[in-house]
This record gives sequence, C-alpha cells and structure tokens, in this order.
Amino acid sequence: MSNNKKINFDSLCVHSGMGSYEHRPVTPPIYQTSTFKFDNADQGAALFKGEIEGYIYTRMLNPTIQAMEDAVAELEGGYKSLGCASGMAAISAVFMAFLKAGDHVVCSKSVYGPTLTLLQNVMSKFNVETTDVDTDIEGEIERAIKPNTKIVYVETPANPMISITDLEKAADVTHKNNALLIVDNTFMSPALQQPFNFGADVIVHSMTKYLNGHADVVGGIIIVKDETTYQSTRKILNQHGGVIDPFNAFLVHRGLKTLAVRMQKHCENTKVVADYLVKHPQVKYVRYPGLKDHPNYEIGLKQHKDFGGMLSFELNDGFSAGKKVMDSVKFCTLAVSLGGVETLIQHPASMTHLSMGAEARKAAGITEGLVRLSVGIENVSDIIEDLEQALSKIS
Ligand SMILES: *Cc1c(COP(=O)(O)O)cnc(C)c1O
Repeated sequence: MSNNKKINFDSLCVHSGMGSYEHRPVTPPIYQTSTFKFDNADQGAALFKGEIEGYIYTRMLNPTIQAMEDAVAELEGGYKSLGCASGMAAISAVFMAFLKAGDHVVCSKSVYGPTLTLLQNVMSKFNVETTDVDTDIEGEIERAIKPNTKIVYVETPANPMISITDLEKAADVTHKNNALLIVDNTFMSPALQQPFNFGADVIVHSMTKYLNGHADVVGGIIIVKDETTYQSTRKILNQHGGVIDPFNAFLVHRGLKTLAVRMQKHCENTKVVADYLVKHPQVKYVRYPGLKDHPNYEIGLKQHKDFGGMLSFELNDGFSAGKKVMDSVKFCTLAVSLGGVETLIQHPASMTHLSMGAEARKAAGITEGLVRLSVGIENVSDIIEDLEQALSKIS
C-alpha cells in the first residue's frame, strides 16, 4: 500500500503486495518463466553488478514470488521476506545463513520433528551442536545457553501438547547472550501472533499451513527485519536453491487475502469444539490455549490475539480408543498436516509416531490416547456431530 495511513490487518491481507504492472491488473500476474531477457550486454552486466534493479533468473528473484514475499513481510511487520519451496527449505536455509562450524543452537524440544532431526543429524555433520529444551518452562533456555550459542530457535505454540513459550522472555535471554531468536510462527500465523513485537529477530513459516490455508501448496518463508540480513540471506537462498515457484507463490498470495477471516472462523469453531470435548465422558483432558487449565494460559493471553485452530485431547481408553475414533470419523478428514479450511484429525500413537514404539513415545510425552485436531472453517455443528458419533463407537 502506498498511502501513509496504517490500514488494519484484515484489510492488509486483501491489499498487500499488489505491486504495479503494465496492464494494471487487479491481481498480480503469474510470471511463469525461469529467466528474463536482457536488452543488451551492458544491461545484463549492470543487472549482475546490482547497479540497476531488475530480474535475471527466477531462482534469484521473480515478480510473482516477490509480490507474495512483500505481502507476507507486511503482514508480519517485517522488512522483507524470502519465499521457499517448503517450510523445511526455509528452516534449512536459515540454519545455513546464520550458523558456522563451532556454533551452538538452543531449540524447543517440541519443535516440528524434521527441524530437530535436521539440527541433530545434519547440522551436527558441520560441527553445529544443538541442545533441545522445554522452552515453555521458564529458565530452561537460559540454562542451556553457552558462550557459543548463536541461535535460540522457538516454535510456539507447538505440537503435540500445544505448548506455549513466552517470546518476550526468550528474546531477553537470547539477546543478553548476543544470539538470534528465530521463531516458527506456523501455528498462529501473523493474524494471531506477531513475533517481531516480542523481540524475535527472524520468523519462519510453513506456508503449507495457515498462510496458504487450502491444503494445495507446499511452501515456506523467511521474514527478516533489515536490509543487511535480507541481502545475506538472499545470497544463501540463491545457493541453497530451495525457492518457491511462481505458481505456488501466486496460490499462497491468493490464500493470504482471506487469512484474517479464515483465522477468525478457525478460532470461533475451535472454542466450540474445545468446550464440547471438555465435557465429554470419554475425554480425559483437552489441550487448547483458550482453556484456563493450559499451563501457559497467561502467556497465551499476552502474545496471542486469539487462541488459534489447533487442539489436542486425551482419550480415557488410550491407544485402542484413539484408533477407533480414527476409523469412525466420517466428516473430519483423517490426515496429517494442519491449517487448511477442512478439519483434519490425527492420532500420533497409531500414525505419525507409531514407528517410534510405545517406550519412545512415552519418553517424548506422546500419550497413547492423544488425538490432534486441526479445526477447519466448516459449520461447527457438522464437526461436533461427527466427533459425537465417532466417540460413541468407543466401547
Ligand atoms: C509443517 C511444518 C513445518 C514444515 O513445513 P513443510 O512446508 O512441510 O516443509 C515446519 N514447522 C511447523 C510448525 C510445521 O507445522
């Protein structure tokens, strides 16, 4: 937006990153091209030297990708952002950009699984050491920090217990030790949580989830706060190579327009579902940031605009009950992932975490009757009716 008046977040979702183009389209066009023509040798040279601005090659920069990047940067209140082929492409590019041999990382224990695997199994080959701690417990980050800690990496809220880390306190201890606070903001999206307001230095997202919101794109993004960081990260991403393609960038940009209304409906529905589950006799407990018995309820109140669309609940009858519910749902979709318009249901013990075995699950805090819901934007009575009939099948 070119005017000076600060427009509201829901309006920003509709209008961000619209750019200006020759034929004055209302929607940014898709530049489905891998490369861009030079007028002559001098122009090509000037573009490569950075003396003039312009497009050279899509891995380096592309107008459709850039339009989406501008939109996400604006929604997060950042300076610029970098569109990536997946959330993991964004996360691995960030590690390549900000770490060197001999550095140490403090990472949330409950972080998205492949993130921790990447740190422990891949970055370790380059002599980067990682300590995983419960960042949602006060004082744990500080205890894990070492003189060579370069990054504190926090995901909040995080799976499977929807654990919440206090970003302001995390930023304080991180900066006292001259490290960078990197926040994975996938679960809340900028509609509900803006980590830069609490001191984050870099934000990453799996755009596969709420930002795109329609379960039809895999994408990621890195949002930074200043030109120097932007330039250095862009250089690394250019070599890393995991950029998003123009068509997927277009789809994400389209998804962003409805982010505010989608998130509002996700939140409304999830509140109703949580209230329903809390009272159900087959349910031992519900983990949801909007319930006062959430261990970090107060932190959530401070840093979330609303409570989001994710919850998990524990069934009294454990593994077999979880499996029975999975086999009984008809309306909720049995699938991993989250953040799309449709309600997804998952039972970690019999699905994503089955291969770990019961012992390892227990050690990781993944209980046998835990069910995870990504509540969609359907009519909430259809979701509840389905849960009701599925829960009634537990004998
Ligand atoms: C899905 C997810 C990722 C990984 O994103 P992909 O787009 O699947 O690569 C990272 N962080 C969180 C919190 C996620 O949910």
